[in-house]
Amino acid sequence: MTCQRCLESVEIDVEASFNLAVAPSEEVAKTLPRHYDPLIVEDEDIELWSVVEEELILNLPVVPFHVDCSIQTSFGEIAPEDGKSKKPNPFSVLAKLKADADKS
Ligand SMILES: [Zn+2]
Repeated sequence: MTCQRCLESVEIDVEASFNLAVAPSEEVAKTLPRHYDPLIVEDEDIELWSVVEEELILNLPVVPFHVDCSIQTSFGEIAPEDGKSKKPNPFSVLAKLKADADKS
C-alpha cells in the first residue's frame, strides 16, 4: 500500500478473525447465534478463498502508514533529515491552471 505520510510504498500485515457459519438459507441464518457471520450457501459451490480475501480486504487499514515513517505527524509533515515540508501544496494545481490560462 502507499504510506499516507511519505507516499512511499509500505508493507502492511493484515489479520482478520471471523466466525463464519455456513447456512443453507436466510431463515436458518437468522436462527444462528449473533457472534456468527452467516454465509448463505444454497446449492452452489463456494470458493472459500474469495470469502477469506473479502475479509482481509475489509481489514485493510483506511490510512496505511509506516510505523517508523520519517514523516511523523499528519500536521507537521517535516522530514527530520532535511527539515523541508514534503506536503505538496494543494493549491499548486490551481497555480498551474492559471499559468496555462495566462499562456493562451
Ligand atoms: Zn511513510
